[in-house]
Formats: sequence, structure tokens, C-alpha cells
Amino acid sequence: MADNHRKKGVNTRLAHMGNNPRDFFGFVNPPVVHGSTVLFPDAATMASRSQQYTYGTRGTPTTDALAKAVDELEGSAGTIIVPSGLAAVCVPLLAFLSAGDHALIVDSVYNPTRHFADTMLKRLGVEVEYYDPMVGADIAALMKPNTKVVFTESPASNTFEIQDIPVIAAAAHNGGAIVLMDNTWATPLYFRPLDHGVDISIHAATKYPAGHSDVLLGTVSANEKCWKQLHETFITLGVCAGPDDVYQVLRGLRTMGVRLAHHQESALAIARWLEGQPGVAQVLHPALPSHPGHALWKRDFSGSSGIFSFVLSQGGGAEAHAFLDALEIFGLGYSWGGYESLAVHVSLSDRTITNGSYPGPVIRLQIGLEDVEDLKADIEKGLAAARR
Ligand SMILES: *Cc1c(COP(=O)(O)O)cnc(C)c1O
Repeated sequence: MADNHRKKGVNTRLAHMGNNPRDFFGFVNPPVVHGSTVLFPDAATMASRSQQYTYGTRGTPTTDALAKAVDELEGSAGTIIVPSGLAAVCVPLLAFLSAGDHALIVDSVYNPTRHFADTMLKRLGVEVEYYDPMVGADIAALMKPNTKVVFTESPASNTFEIQDIPVIAAAAHNGGAIVLMDNTWATPLYFRPLDHGVDISIHAATKYPAGHSDVLLGTVSANEKCWKQLHETFITLGVCAGPDDVYQVLRGLRTMGVRLAHHQESALAIARWLEGQPGVAQVLHPALPSHPGHALWKRDFSGSSGIFSFVLSQGGGAEAHAFLDALEIFGLGYSWGGYESLAVHVSLSDRTITNGSYPGPVIRLQIGLEDVEDLKADIEKGLAAARR
């Protein structure tokens, strides 16, 4: 059939990838395997470990189903599944950095990533240096003979600058470093890092893949070049995830396409509307033509998700708190990617380069699956309170 040569649509693939129902009596979903010990049929098989599963920390049919699905989405050679998004950041950094190495990390990185670098990586003798997310090809000038890792995250946490990933990856490879990217914002549906020169793609699956604010999980996907060392580190550290959480994320993937489309549409509608609201200086959403990174976003990304920030035209902490305290639908809480809307006052105080010259406080919004008109009315209440 000619149809076999056509690449199937993403929602079709999300509905069927990861497991084959025929492998488990035809049940649509894979089993949730709770297991440490795996039995061997005889001593020789045990000694050579020559069977598919050998011990719970090394993978189960449940973790394999999710890893296979993520590999298909990322185009990666292998994926490890770890207990949180933060673990998904830390494990590859531990895998590829040693004492005496230099690591370049984007200044606008997810703040706990920065904390890990500034505490544990430094204690282990790694030289950590931060760079401007807008660095582009100038990253070449920051490369040292001992630079082993260039860590990227695009868009930036909280301020949403877009990095020129292909240019940064080329310069990093030129200098003998590998490139890591925290791709949580876009998910592999809207950006595929390995297609743009990245070696290792990192996700807080806690966010859109899980989608319901009830699971913590991380995935790390590597190309052929980096897979062996990443997997070896994963086995060495024993940072495997619990089977129920792994199962919940595979379940979440089935609907991630339709959820993301809705998050995208609602977030864009609210971002565009916010640009015209009194008391709003700027909306930091890369899919808006007013965003400084819009052209790069348009070149590399195929969509936008449900989280962005905006800047109040004046004031400080008191105005930010007045905005947040007036909200009724938006919850005040960390994380995002769930079905419900959230708001947070962004702190940029740990940054050393991009701490911003904004006229007022920065507020981050996660737009959930609620109705847009209700969310707008809620934001209007917040803006009115901030103006008082
Ligand atoms: C939330 C988040 C993480 C960490 O995920 P957790 O599962 O909460 O540990 C890592 N990177 C980014 C960009 C995030 O937004």
C-alpha cells in the first residue's frame, strides 16, 4: 500500500507507540510491572545474564514501553527514565563531566539546574561558566580546550529567550564538547533537539507528558554517540523510576497532542490579548511577532506550549503580590504542564547576565485547559488590583 510510505500524523503515532498489544494478550495497554528480582531459568543464563530482563533497576516492560515511545518522538538511540525532571538534568551532567572539565551553561537555565551546577558540579571540580542565551555563534569564543558540555535550554526558563541551537551546537562540536538541551517547554512535538545538532534531549515529563500535576518523572534521550555513556551512568547511579509513575506518563502521552494543541491556542489567545491590556509593558511569548526571538522560534519550532510571562509596566513585589492575590482560577504554585492554570512571580536574582531591565515585575502564567474567557476575566481582576 502506498500509504505505508507516508509518515503518520503525530496523534496517530502517540495513540499506538511504545508497546505492542499482542505482547500482552491483546490488552491495549502494557502491564505495570512491579519488580526487583527477575528469575533465570538456569545457572548458565544467570551467569551470562543472557535474557531480556535481569533486574528491576535495569528496566522492565513498563519502562521499555515509555522509553521506546520517547525514542520515537525524539529520534534518539536510547532513553533513560528517572524519578524527576531535575534528575533528568543532573544525570547526564554527571555522565559527561569530570574534575578539571569546563561546562558552559545558559544563564537563563531552570534555577535548580543552576543550583546543581553551583554546588555539586563545583564541589566535584568542574569549572562552571554561564553564557548569554542570545550568544549565538559567539559561543565559539567561550569554548576552552577543557569544555566538555554546553548546556542549553530554549526558550529560557521564565523569560523565554530563544537560543540559536544549530549554531551553538556546531560551535560546541567544533570545540569537542557535547550539547545538552532541556526541551521541556516545547516537548518533542514542537521541537526535536537531535534534528538540530543536540546530542542529549532532557524532559521534565512531570509537565506536559504527565499532564495532570500528579506525577514526577524525567526522561533523557541520547543520540548514538552518547547513548552508551548515558546508560552506563544511569545503571551506576540506580536512579530508576517507580512503575506506576512511568505508566502514568505513557498514558499521558496518548493525549499529549490534543492537550498541547489546546494549551497552545489558549495561551496564544491570552498572550495576544494581554499585549493590549493597560498596565502590561511586555508579553514574553516567542510565538508573538513582538518577541525578539520570534524569527528563530519560527525557523526551528513547529508550535508553542502553554507557558509564558508578561511584565507589569511598573511596580515591584507589592504589585506582583496584588496581582497574584486577586486571582481566583489561576493557582499560585510551581511547576506547569497540568490541566489547570497557574501563576507565579518570577525571580531573576540568581542570574548573572540576563537579570533583565524590565520596568516592572515579571509574572509567569501557565495556561491550563479552562475556558479562555474565564481566564481573561481572572487576569483582568489581577491587573486591576496591581494598578491600585
Ligand atoms: C520543571 C522543570 C524541571 C524539573 O522537573 P521536576 O520533575 O519538577 O523535577 C526541569 N527543567 C525545566 C525546564 C522545568 O520546567
